[in-house]
Amino acid sequence: MDFSGFFHEVWSILSKPFNLFFDVSQRLSILYLLTALLVAVAAFWLQRRSLRGLIEWLLPKEILMHPSAKADYVMFFINKSVVVAIYATILIQSQFWFDLVTDWMGPAEKAAESLPITVLTTILIAMTLDSALWFGHYLFHKIPFLWEFHKVHHSAEVMTPLTAARMHPFEEAIESMMGGFAVGVMAALLDQAFGQGAVMINLLGTNIILAIFFLAAFNLRHSHVWVRYPVWLQRIFVCPAQHQVHHSKARQHWDKNMGFIFGLWDWAAGTLYAPKGYEKLEYGLGNGEDGTWNTARALYFRPFRNAYRLFASGWRNAFFQPSESDKPEADLKPEDPRGEPSQAL
Ligand SMILES: [Zn+2]
Ligand SMILES: [Zn+2]
Repeated sequence: MDFSGFFHEVWSILSKPFNLFFDVSQRLSILYLLTALLVAVAAFWLQRRSLRGLIEWLLPKEILMHPSAKADYVMFFINKSVVVAIYATILIQSQFWFDLVTDWMGPAEKAAESLPITVLTTILIAMTLDSALWFGHYLFHKIPFLWEFHKVHHSAEVMTPLTAARMHPFEEAIESMMGGFAVGVMAALLDQAFGQGAVMINLLGTNIILAIFFLAAFNLRHSHVWVRYPVWLQRIFVCPAQHQVHHSKARQHWDKNMGFIFGLWDWAAGTLYAPKGYEKLEYGLGNGEDGTWNTARALYFRPFRNAYRLFASGWRNAFFQPSESDKPEADLKPEDPRGEPSQAL
């Protein structure tokens, strides 16, 4: 057996999570963490007019050492090493759908590059990806057995940028394939419509709109730093505060702000919650299960068990939320939990 080849392979998988910080096309790259840091420092300065106590405020021990944050670190490491390595070979990506549509419709004609078409392509690709991600996120909130998987993300009780990776691999697979399908088909259709000149503008190895969005302190959405856009802008772009509201335990915030880049989809669907001023938030599920999700075992396996139980109780329960009239009297109180609290796994 070739041991050096084997160890090289293992090392390349285990080092993936660390390399990711040095890849500017990744949302957790040092570049995007730095822009988030700059905005956080500016927010601190605006509040206090001094930089005293900045470090304690930026890196509070009670957040960084919280069991929820420790669970994020474990999940980040596993998801970005082993899971990424497996998914790279099995997930169907946008190229697959692009080729399928192009085979079906015939190769697109060659066309000269033109700026308006390049700009249109750049915007349409970003909007297509974002609408697919919004729709996937919406389904994971509204379909009970999918919600069992999405609970993993919402079970975070404190937020650090690594909370972005607190995502069940099943959800990541479904959402990345939905995004891949939408982008692949849209890119092929744009090629057909405008010829092969339909290319998009890239910055830092990704669509320029996505790169600008990441540069705009994206990583503060998973942090304790409140950065809010004016209400009118929140309808167009999702700001960090809006995503923090998405993680709130409070019932009036549930199922709100499912957007990634654009607030437009939430605005159109009536699920936008645009805070007008600072709101003190507590993060978590708010259904009695908080504090029971911070082990790798619960995060990876409990969703399967809960989803299985839902299917076992009838496929209707797995696919449809109970309507208000179906709920027992006791469930209609304002503090109505999101489904039955499940025991620790
Ligand atoms: Zn989140
Ligand atoms: Zn969500």
